[in-house]
Amino acid sequence: MSKAYVVVGNGVAGVSAALAIRSRDARGTIAVVSDEGDYFFSRTALMYAFMDRLPRRAMEPYERHTWRERGVELVRARVADLDASRHQLTLRDGRTLPYDRLLLATGSRARRIELPGVTDDLAGLVHFVTLQDLDACEQYAPTTKRAVVVGGGLIGIELVESLRFHGVAVTFLVREPWYWPAALSREEGEMTAREMRRHGVDVREGAELASVARDASGRVASVTTTAGETIACEMLGVCIGVAPQVEWLRGVATPPAMGRGVKVDATMRTTLDDVWAAGDCAELADGRVESIWYSAKRQGALAGENMSGRPKGYASPVFFNSAKLFELEYTTVGALAEVEDGAESLYATHPTRALSWRIVHSGDKVLGFNALGSRWDHTVITRWIEEQRPVDWVREHLRRAQFDVELGRAPLHEMTARALPIARKGVS
Ligand SMILES: Cc1cc2nc3c(=O)[nH]c(=O)nc-3n(C[C@H](O)[C@H](O)[C@H](O)COP(=O)(O)OP(=O)(O)OC[C@H]3O[C@@H](n4cnc5c(N)ncnc54)[C@H](O)[C@@H]3O)c2cc1C
Repeated sequence: MSKAYVVVGNGVAGVSAALAIRSRDARGTIAVVSDEGDYFFSRTALMYAFMDRLPRRAMEPYERHTWRERGVELVRARVADLDASRHQLTLRDGRTLPYDRLLLATGSRARRIELPGVTDDLAGLVHFVTLQDLDACEQYAPTTKRAVVVGGGLIGIELVESLRFHGVAVTFLVREPWYWPAALSREEGEMTAREMRRHGVDVREGAELASVARDASGRVASVTTTAGETIACEMLGVCIGVAPQVEWLRGVATPPAMGRGVKVDATMRTTLDDVWAAGDCAELADGRVESIWYSAKRQGALAGENMSGRPKGYASPVFFNSAKLFELEYTTVGALAEVEDGAESLYATHPTRALSWRIVHSGDKVLGFNALGSRWDHTVITRWIEEQRPVDWVREHLRRAQFDVELGRAPLHEMTARALPIARKGVS
């Protein structure tokens, strides 16, 4: 008899699972349920849509007919209940959806800020995670002279850059002593802050929000910092991180075991029979939640294979990310902050250009690589880390991993290297 597969969430984890299931099981029915949008879209492209570089349709990595052709039914609905003893979901509109095998791929939600004056109905308050957040940003930006953005990570700078693109003056409140200490050393954070200032951003390190005031219409009118400064603004962007979107599961008929996310074993199976979880909502056996695109894709595909075939274990990929922080290229590979005691860091900068690289190593073993201001082929560096190339060898051969040939390679020979203390997460 053919199986009924149901996937909750049409993000990269959910759709990767659906496609993996279909490639193994031609006969089963597959339904993907999601309440955010009708079609899978690239969440990492939100800023490009906000900056008018991409029409919304171009955020969708697959042609819309793909799903019909592959026999994947898309259901636009919110799942409200899960009863694993009956193998059944209940949607918010009251419909029920039976399943033989279920994947929870419900992703992340933006963390909310709890402060005097901040309520969900505050006009001008935005986050930057969902399509609905994009709608709100597009709604408020044209009538905003100044925005205050809170939070010193990747999503924050993407919102800041998008607002600057629309001519909005921005004050960026970074609670930590430098921008993005979870990913950047102090020197790298300061280089990025200089880049933001070059683009007119009022960056305030070590600055925290204390309260928000609204005008008579209910829209943001000003914010006050813990240092007592009041900043007039019409928009407040809160980008203080994301958390697994699993709260709804705590109240269902049969909740799976949960910590920060839905607990899974090495095959992405939850503690409920015939229920798997993958992506930003899944908490791995070692307690980690990998809230990044490539992990969500890999976990989703693996969960799909396991739901429709022989179980295989998940191995975390070597961490990789790249972004453009305004005009500053950023590449990171491997581990830089959460590293073993005794690890060291070698940091090189250019005397006149905004250009740096940093290698974190433990003895001879390279653990991670960070670079600002030039483009790198992460696959080469990943291979070097996997092959455990000695640090001096990596240093000598760095040129081979450079990507930006067409733009002129970064002049590595003009950079000088020095030892730098390891920047650990949350360093103060
Ligand atoms: C602005 C931004 C920039 C980013 N940039 C990068 C980057 O440069 N590199 C990187 O690696 N990662 C980046 N990320 C993170 C990356 O986008 C995520 O790790 C990835 O999208 C997670 O995919 P997912 O499938 O697990 O979940 P999601 O994409 O969050 O999808 C989950 C879906 O499930 C739906 N859902 C949840 N609960 C229910 C329910 N009860 N019923 C029905 N539907 C439900 C949600 O509405 C959502 O549509 C970025 C994220 C953001 C927001």
